[in-house]
Amino acid sequence: MINTPPRSAKILVSSCLLGEKVRYDGGDNGLSHPLFQKWKNDGRLVSFCPECAGGLPTPRASAERVGVRIMTQAGVDVTSEFLSGAEQAVELARRLEVGVAILKARSPSCGSGVIYDGNFAKRLIEGNGMTTDALIKAGIKVFSEDEIEDVARYLSED
Ligand code: SF4
Repeated sequence: MINTPPRSAKILVSSCLLGEKVRYDGGDNGLSHPLFQKWKNDGRLVSFCPECAGGLPTPRASAERVGVRIMTQAGVDVTSEFLSGAEQAVELARRLEVGVAILKARSPSCGSGVIYDGNFAKRLIEGNGMTTDALIKAGIKVFSEDEIEDVARYLSED
């Protein structure tokens, strides 16, 4: 069940959206949306990278979700690191009473609604990343960076 957050709730955010160079290739996905910047300036954003928290280095091999497992293209199973990151995300969200999450689209950790299909062919399928699944199970609604206005509506701030 999804809980209704208070208007001033903290927002868990993929670190790469805040410009932190934690992406698998050492890059970031810095987001300049004005509402996102406002929440940042208000001190409401909680930065978290589940793959880093799970113990993976940056840069690292790209990985995709294959059912309940996460595999690199070379066939290395990194499921336990991804699960550890997902569990830590839930712990952090509970500890800081996070009301909602904005996570990077299509990532095998952070994606919501669609993710890559596991064949490293840039094809998308319906599904969530590991951390997204864990947060939803914990009652926290997850949006992507393409849905910032929806987040504002969810927080009754529009
Ligand atoms: Fe960004 Fe999430 Fe990938 Fe970390 S795991 S780089 S926060 S998309």
